[in-house]
Amino acid sequence: MSAAPMNVNWETLELHTAQPFGIARWTHSVYPRTFVTFTQDGISGRGEAAPNAFYGETRGTVEAVLPLLADALTDPRDWDGLHAGLAARMPHDHPSVKCALEMAALEWCAVSAGLPVWRLLGLSPAPLPRSSFTVSLAELPDMRRQAREAVAAGHTVLKVKLGTARDTAILEALREEVPNVTLRVDANAAWTRPQAKRMLGVLDAARVELVEQPLAADDLEGHAELRRVSRVPIVADESLHHVRDVIALADAFDGVNLKLAKLGGPLRALTALRLARAHGMGVMIGCMIESSLGIAAAAHLAGLCDWADLDGALLLADDPYAGLEWTAGELARPDGVGWGVEWR
Ligand SMILES: [Mg+2]
Repeated sequence: MSAAPMNVNWETLELHTAQPFGIARWTHSVYPRTFVTFTQDGISGRGEAAPNAFYGETRGTVEAVLPLLADALTDPRDWDGLHAGLAARMPHDHPSVKCALEMAALEWCAVSAGLPVWRLLGLSPAPLPRSSFTVSLAELPDMRRQAREAVAAGHTVLKVKLGTARDTAILEALREEVPNVTLRVDANAAWTRPQAKRMLGVLDAARVELVEQPLAADDLEGHAELRRVSRVPIVADESLHHVRDVIALADAFDGVNLKLAKLGGPLRALTALRLARAHGMGVMIGCMIESSLGIAAAAHLAGLCDWADLDGALLLADDPYAGLEWTAGELARPDGVGWGVEWR
């Protein structure tokens, strides 16, 4: 446990996935997550930093910048002041650390008011869209087993990780294995333009609901070209890092995947969401591999979204937070005070 000069404490825990989690870029089973607590007047607010190397963050960067950023959080009611303080200390990046501090400020205010955060922010009370459950990239028999087990556990929407030379075989096998579920595909920026064009027919034949990030993050022109010929909606994930990216993505993508940890917190994600809506785009609320605390924060925004992909904590063997209610693959909006989850 480290302590900043002010009222912010944090602790990094190594969380473990129940099974190795593979995407096109890597396979890991250990995920260091840093849990932040802000305390003032006997009230605490909590946040989680879920760093992702793709966005330039690691456990090391989180632990290095937290002492520099933590004292930007002095008045938890002053969100503009917090953002200005964070920008003054570290103008560039470190979004998961900024997310954790913003989460702590928001929960402090919600607890003070005796409200769930979504009520504090005046967000939608609509039911949450059904969340997908991820089939991670592995050998084919393993992917079949993952899909079977997810469906047996009640999930009706699966997100299949692709981005290999054997993607057609994987998708056809999974469609055969679980014929009646909704399938989404995430290529994690791994396809070339010609490969993506070839895959469009395969996606269509497999009745895929949407495809996330087929091409490299900076290939907006390639995505725009692909979108013109695709019957399957194309959603940006890696291409969206900052709120300022959203407007430029509107011509190239049908939708965006918002993750609090890459955008810098719930308030920034809400800004991105409104920009995306204003530009006619669909909105997915997504996540990293993170505890039920980080997932809860995303769930508070999910009533505003078309698609949810909030299975990050379900993949963990040692989730340190409890309180999210999953029923047959459906996540209920947390209705407790604050984020609505408790330390186990
Ligand atoms: Mg993705």
